[in-house]
Amino acid sequence: LLAQCSPLRHGDGAVFGAVAVLQDITALRQLEQMRRDFVANVSHELRTPLTSIQGIIEGLIDGVIPAAEAGRYLRVAHGESLRMNRLVQDLLDLAALEAGRADWELHAVELGEILDRVEIRLQAPRSEKGLAIRREVPPDLPPLLANENRLEQVLTNLVENAVRFSPPGGEITVAAEKRPHNRITVTVRDQGPGIPPEDLPHVWDRFYRVEKSRARETGGTGLGLAIVKQIVEAQGGEVAVESSPGEGASFFFTLPAADSLID
Ligand code: ADP
Repeated sequence: LLAQCSPLRHGDGAVFGAVAVLQDITALRQLEQMRRDFVANVSHELRTPLTSIQGIIEGLIDGVIPAAEAGRYLRVAHGESLRMNRLVQDLLDLAALEAGRADWELHAVELGEILDRVEIRLQAPRSEKGLAIRREVPPDLPPLLANENRLEQVLTNLVENAVRFSPPGGEITVAAEKRPHNRITVTVRDQGPGIPPEDLPHVWDRFYRVEKSRARETGGTGLGLAIVKQIVEAQGGEVAVESSPGEGASFFFTLPAADSLID
């Protein structure tokens, strides 16, 4: 609690009262703490791959890494540099979203077209694990009112996670459904390990990871879902997640249908 007090005086300087201003700064403190945690997280996340890259370069310079092994180590360093790049890109995206510099135009967007793009983008990791993507999109689904690039990013992040957490040979389902009040719900479902109930509310938080080491090994930045939430909410939608451990996870987002403009 922050308190400020000033006396009230008559013209001759005699005190006849006081004004006290009490301000609750709990929220301010929490915000400051969150900011500090965020900076600490970013530093840690950037330093981990950087340390690995440095170690490899030093090993090569000093000759500790034999020439025959150089290629393998360089590929690891390359992977780490890609991870850093992804992280920086995600941070820039988040910062732009939070600053409200989201100068997007909303159009009528066909979900199927965006899904085609996402599938092409994720072709390599998907076929590597032998994963099938099944679409359950009704043929008469109206277009969504959205920005197509942002919608592509939302679906890419969700399907990328599904690919990452799916068992080899598993199936990922992307379903869409028209809801009352001209809304459309899109679901991305996988057959992975799922998410424990106590972690569910936190998966949208920046840098939150259910299983710290596993997620980092699988190449995630811990920012994907935070970005999904920001984008969907900025377009007037909501996000949700459901999961029973061992039975996969379902991520949902709802956006307005394009014809809601006319109705
Ligand atoms: P990351 O880049 O680490 O995947 P996200 O923000 O996309 O970051 O996800 C946050 C965390 O939520 C993940 O680290 C993981 O623990 C959990 N998670 C996300 N998607 C799934 C999924 N499909 N199945 C199981 N866990 C998931």
